[in-house]
Amino acid sequence: MKLLAVTGLLAITLVSVEDEIAIGRQANAQVQKQVPAFSDAQTLNYLRGIGQRLVRHAPGPKYPYSFSAADYREINAFALPGGPIWIHRGVLHKATSESQVAGVMAHEIAHIAQRHAAAQLTNATLTNWGLTLLGSVLGNSGGAGAAQIAAGFLANGVFLKFSRDDEREADRVGLDIMRRAGWDGRGMVDLFDILRRESARDPGSVEVFFSSHPPPQDRIARLQAEVSRRPGGTRDTKQFQQIKARLVKMPPPRAMPRQ
Ligand SMILES: [Zn+2]
Repeated sequence: MKLLAVTGLLAITLVSVEDEIAIGRQANAQVQKQVPAFSDAQTLNYLRGIGQRLVRHAPGPKYPYSFSAADYREINAFALPGGPIWIHRGVLHKATSESQVAGVMAHEIAHIAQRHAAAQLTNATLTNWGLTLLGSVLGNSGGAGAAQIAAGFLANGVFLKFSRDDEREADRVGLDIMRRAGWDGRGMVDLFDILRRESARDPGSVEVFFSSHPPPQDRIARLQAEVSRRPGGTRDTKQFQQIKARLVKMPPPRAMPRQ
């Protein structure tokens, strides 16, 4: 990890793309231990197919993007630094069209592509851990340092919380990615609408999402005009409906443990 300390209150961290990828790999190994993976091959192939199509239109560095599914019922998804993306099975149960799923995934890809985690690693290191950690990072570059950082950030849930500006940017860039990849941008707005309705009907199912994301009303309002200006693209596919039909025949996804 390269750190460039400038005087006093001003300090800039330069986390290289390679560092980010190394930290994300370590974090992902931890997530794999903590989160029940949903490993149905057809579902994973389906999600990865959408993911790879989206990634081809992502700006920024060529990250090794990967897509995993968590066997949780809550509507949520999250991105780790440098490539790993997790989608809760609940997204597939609650979404009514493929473009909604593509919207969620494009949003997460945008967080990675825009390097939000790198900025976050800088801020969190400086504000929460201060100079002791900075020193240990400097003196401990490479794998061990990355592992330590990843463990610390995961334990604090830092990876799951982006700033409002980052969220806004991920919506905007995500919308652009999904459209370029051929999906109807209305899918993103539609999913926020589902989240809004679910929060009234079953607050528990969206609680995790709201703890890490701005309220959907704000996001709908911002995206709606842009989306209706340029309609078009795939809204749904037979394949998505087949996956949904397949999922409901399986044992239901579990509830996420309360933190
Ligand atoms: Zn987000």
